[in-house]
Amino acid sequence: MSLPIDLSVPAPQPELGIDIDTVKGFLAPDEGARLHQLADLAAQLGPVLEIGSYCGKSTVYLGRAVQEHRGTLYALDHHRGSEEHQVGEGYHDPDLFDVARNRFDSFPAFRDTIERAALDDTVIALVAPSSTVARDWQSQLAMVFIDGGHSMAAAQADFDGWASKVMPGGILAIHDVFPNPADGGRPPFEIYQQALASNRFVDFGLTRSLAVLQRRG
Ligand code: MG
Repeated sequence: MSLPIDLSVPAPQPELGIDIDTVKGFLAPDEGARLHQLADLAAQLGPVLEIGSYCGKSTVYLGRAVQEHRGTLYALDHHRGSEEHQVGEGYHDPDLFDVARNRFDSFPAFRDTIERAALDDTVIALVAPSSTVARDWQSQLAMVFIDGGHSMAAAQADFDGWASKVMPGGILAIHDVFPNPADGGRPPFEIYQQALASNRFVDFGLTRSLAVLQRRG
């Protein structure tokens, strides 16, 4: 298997139709450009699904490419925040806290992003836990992007639920993969290692912390 792009070269920055710096999130521009480039390939084969949409930054990069192919991007997130987004934790953002309901909720910000980016015809929000959506999911996916919770339980559930749904020739991308433990937490790296050990994927290396793999035929 191979991909018709050179992953040793940075992907060109796409025209996104929105000032991406106004969208909260934890995705570097070169990683976003790579996602757009991969989604442009994948959308020619079938639907794309991301896990961990947060406020929609990666959704815009992926969705803009998918929209050009009149495809579908499923954006899966329970929108209650990962462990690190909760009150008192390192990545808590008070703007995303619903005071009336006393809960974290990134879904309003996500919907605003999708509307501002004019991606309503492309993006389908799946607002539920990853494992709940995976349970009865049948469709093969041309690309799965895992960027959900960073606990081992969350990352494992994302991998177990979705890696098997990538179609032959399709792409599995995993964010926040840090080979050096000093750079960040291990669970995304651990599931990346599991993907390699399964021998079902070809490794295309890292763009910053974005791991890119292709499902074997
Ligand atoms: Mg991430």
